[in-house]
Amino acid sequence: MEWEIVMGLEVHVELATKTKIFCSCTTEFGGKPNTHCCPICTGMPGTLPVLNKKVLEYAVRAGLALNCDITRYNKFDRKNYFYPDLPKAYQISQLYLPFARNGHVDLETESGRNVTVRIHEIHMEEDAGKLVHSLFGDKTYPDYNRCGVPLIEIVSEPDFRESEEVIAYLNKLKTTLEYLGISDCKMEEGSMRADVNLSVRKKGSTEFGTRTEMKNINSLKSIERAIAFESKRQIEILENGGEIIQETRRWDENKEKTFSMRSKENANDYRYFPEPDIPPISITEDEINYYNSIRPEFAEEKVVRYMSEYGMTKKDAQIIVSSKYLAKLFEETVEKCGDPSEVRYWMMMQVLYFMNERNVQPENITLSSDKFAQFVKIVKDGRINKQIGKKVFEVMFFGDESFDVEKYIKENNLEQVEDTTLIAQTVEQVINDNPKAVAQYKSGQKKIAGFFIGQVMKKLGGKANPGTVGKAVNEALEKLL
Ligand code: ADP
Ligand code: MG
Ligand code: ZN
Repeated sequence: MEWEIVMGLEVHVELATKTKIFCSCTTEFGGKPNTHCCPICTGMPGTLPVLNKKVLEYAVRAGLALNCDITRYNKFDRKNYFYPDLPKAYQISQLYLPFARNGHVDLETESGRNVTVRIHEIHMEEDAGKLVHSLFGDKTYPDYNRCGVPLIEIVSEPDFRESEEVIAYLNKLKTTLEYLGISDCKMEEGSMRADVNLSVRKKGSTEFGTRTEMKNINSLKSIERAIAFESKRQIEILENGGEIIQETRRWDENKEKTFSMRSKENANDYRYFPEPDIPPISITEDEINYYNSIRPEFAEEKVVRYMSEYGMTKKDAQIIVSSKYLAKLFEETVEKCGDPSEVRYWMMMQVLYFMNERNVQPENITLSSDKFAQFVKIVKDGRINKQIGKKVFEVMFFGDESFDVEKYIKENNLEQVEDTTLIAQTVEQVINDNPKAVAQYKSGQKKIAGFFIGQVMKKLGGKANPGTVGKAVNEALEKLL
């Protein structure tokens, strides 16, 4: 029997405002437990929450970027539940009139398929605290620093059929929100958290099956594994005549399995009611026009532009724009040195190589566009050759602010050897030192010229112009025939 997987995502994203959603406490990650909180975010009786304007701005801009209708008149609601990480015993959220609805995201998956995923709604809410379990397992301590950190929850329609669509979606959300500058979307730090709702059905069926929900899986790799495991589990149950129970399941990374956490049957009664302490919000046409006017150029628009403006391949462009920080480094360097194809070359050959090899995140790249542009000019002017350039680039990439390309090249005597007399002398010397290779050349093995070029380059410390050396070697060898 052929089965089809159906998935819908609920993604929580922390907004990168300086202060919390209803008070002026800092949103900074970490900090000593219970030092980033006040009577408001810990819900002391008699306190009044006030909506942070920046939260509303960031939320609306996210909604517009995800092609949503913005609800001009929206409201907050109280979601009541008791849990030790939530000292108020309710979360301020939006149920009846979320600020954004009916959006969509166009995706291109890894294997090149184009898919559109609809967004059901996006709402604003506050985050809860964290429970810290003691190492000995006998005590749990609440840390309320995260209480009141602003979140948006992006709820998709059940439009996903394959895990590569889920991955493409999460990557797209990350880059879009990163380009907007409203969240860093770091799954490892919990600033982006995805719940995956999953059901299976027979191919061709128009009805959905019963779903389970997998909460807070914290990396793309784990999401892929969790989807593979959970879909297989459900298919096996159904093929054996069993039934899927609607429940929340936890993905255990070490065991590579999902486990039942709680059944959803009666867990859903949050006794929502309109939040009485916060007035309704109106969003005006002017505000929306303004937000549209400051909207940045997004990744897929950059891809089109890089292809037409710089003649870049789609693949290369997609890699560079996958991070706002890489795209910025690229664009600024091109602007400063005027040579897009050379900058592209060094981005692909070196920047991405080092990022992979040493696990450097794009936002942690310290290389400035000034230094990068200066380097490109030096290579273009033929002052160092590409081989030497690679070594210089590595030192520059990992060097600190004080690194000076000019000084480094001078101090290490790396300038390209252009002295044709010196090159000719070295060629002659190498020919004299290698009678065997000369004999091979004379017997028709023309490829051996490469060996001579290598030897000459080596003798000149790798610093000669490879083109000039190649020409000199070939001319000298031909004379011998
Ligand atoms: P709840 O109110 O229980 O959170 P929702 O209707 O809001 O449920 O749906 C939550 C998420 O689950 C949405 O992203 C939705 O697309 C997804 N979803 C709903 N039904 C299914 C299903 N049968 N299979 C997979 N995903 C589903
Ligand atoms: Mg839900
Ligand atoms: Zn506070």
